[in-house]
Amino acid sequence: MKILVLNCGSSSLKVGVFEIAEKATEIFKASYEQFEAEGCTYKITKDGKTETGEAPLGDIAAVLVSLPHILAGYRITQLEAVGHRIVHGGENFRTTAVLDDPTIVAIEALTPLAPLHNPANLLAVRIAKQVWPNLPQVAVFDTAFHSTNPPRATTYAVPKAWRDAGLRRFGFHGTSHKYVAIRAAEEIGEPLRDLQIVSVHLGNGASVCAVNRGESIDTSMGMTPLEGLVMGTRSGDVDPGLFGFLSRQLGLSVDKVEAALYSESGLKGLTGSSDMRDVEDRASRGDANAQLAIEMFAYRVRKYIGAYAAAMGGLDAVVFTGGIGENSPSMRRRICDGLEFMGLRLDHDRNQCVELANHAAPQIQAYGARVRVIVTETAEQLMIARETAAALAPKATVPEPIPVAVSARHVHLSRPAVEALFGAGYHLTPAAPLRQPGQWAASERITLEGPKGRLERVAILGPERPRTQIEISRTDGFALGIDAPVRDSGKLDGTPTVRLIGPFGSLNTDGLIVAARHIHTNSDDAGRLGLADGMLVDVHIGDEERGLVFGKTLIRVGANAVTEMHIDTDEANAADIRVTGEGSLVADLRAVAVANRD
Ligand code: ADP
Repeated sequence: MKILVLNCGSSSLKVGVFEIAEKATEIFKASYEQFEAEGCTYKITKDGKTETGEAPLGDIAAVLVSLPHILAGYRITQLEAVGHRIVHGGENFRTTAVLDDPTIVAIEALTPLAPLHNPANLLAVRIAKQVWPNLPQVAVFDTAFHSTNPPRATTYAVPKAWRDAGLRRFGFHGTSHKYVAIRAAEEIGEPLRDLQIVSVHLGNGASVCAVNRGESIDTSMGMTPLEGLVMGTRSGDVDPGLFGFLSRQLGLSVDKVEAALYSESGLKGLTGSSDMRDVEDRASRGDANAQLAIEMFAYRVRKYIGAYAAAMGGLDAVVFTGGIGENSPSMRRRICDGLEFMGLRLDHDRNQCVELANHAAPQIQAYGARVRVIVTETAEQLMIARETAAALAPKATVPEPIPVAVSARHVHLSRPAVEALFGAGYHLTPAAPLRQPGQWAASERITLEGPKGRLERVAILGPERPRTQIEISRTDGFALGIDAPVRDSGKLDGTPTVRLIGPFGSLNTDGLIVAARHIHTNSDDAGRLGLADGMLVDVHIGDEERGLVFGKTLIRVGANAVTEMHIDTDEANAADIRVTGEGSLVADLRAVAVANRD
């Protein structure tokens, strides 16, 4: 599938053409900028050759209208779809969207949230619709990857009326953070779902993202791309009290202050230059302002890395990208130095000799360091092309219903735990077989105790396991007073501790989780349903009235497993189903397969 990607800003246009097969390959790349009445500058790369020059195209619209002709000149024809970068997707666009008329109207309505960016993005959409009326067009939103941020990360502690008006944190650079996290997982050779990654995008705009087991859980940009790190011309975090101070002391209006925070602050405000190369040169020649700017820039990034390691409760890798992250070994070193205490240590030679051609993602941590440090070019256009292809892939509907079982809170106990709770040499009594072969519910029960309260008569499922695992619902977590993370079964490192109380004794053990929803299946059923181990699918459960689609349901293929989806009691209540029910796969299976292969 040949996909045209348009990334249209207020003053520049980036164009990419990708061939999407087993892998996505960029076959044409262009950028147009420095627009003036008589023309603009361009840079075009095709077949490994780059040419630059000036074109008599006075604005972005003129370039867009000429694109078919320009592409044909490079023998690029037969496009099959257009993918657009759209900066702001607001609350509602949590994933990619096919650009039909209502979608365009909905994006237009988000203009107050991104007054510079969304209108520029939509200009490209409108013109592309005229130029290629028969091609499907897809919006890929910068905010979408962060739609998994929980309310505690997205909510500002401000009056309700403001929040009701739409004030909240969204985050940006999502396509970049998603791409580099996927690329880092590939490089590490472990599923993204098992990794805790801090993605550090340092360009003219800069942001950090906590990618916890594949999902963004927090990011440094907020309601607007102004919050967070020190940037080229943006301040990043400031005390909002400055509005009052500057109004009283300097008589500055809100608009003036806001404009200066966007365009006259950051590196530019500190040094006069927004360009890090410049700032580094000046600092090395002894310019004290440039030295302070560099220290502030690095310090702010380091604080966010520490904060996000704490937010995730662990850290496997830090990934640097963006013009500064990719190209400045001294900035990477300043950021990482001093983080040895959390297992993050650079290899200075590797840091110095980073080579990034061909989507390389070199690891630059010191030998034996627990946390990996990776550098990679961001590839937002490539990601947009992949997501566009995924959004347009034919929907595979599987008519066959999948049985759904509701798992109430329960524990799996290890041998030492059984002995601590029931006495030395004790063996649990199988009372009722479960549908999964070889598994049973025991007649014994135990109590769970947390700082807030107890859950009595909790079921024990056998047989014993090497490690104790306690599965509760989010609601149970509030009853206990412990915030349990959502985890796949068996992924227990760094999970909270809870007290188990039995008739003989008690013990404190980690292993407390909210089990991630999943579908057990065997290879025969999986083959028939078009599923594979590790895939994530969407499943519709419940009736017309209260039914819900449960996204990101993990497929677990086991030799003798009976096909059955497991959800917890909160999920079942939300979809209004009781102990058992049926679900149907609604996933776009090809798209999901592509996403997982990434
Ligand atoms: P954008 O956010 O506009 O895409 P980029 O990702 O291209 O920006 O990053 C631009 C920033 O990267 C500039 O501050 C530039 O000075 C910086 N940069 C590029 N190359 C280097 C380098 N070799 N050393 C330090 N900074 C660099």
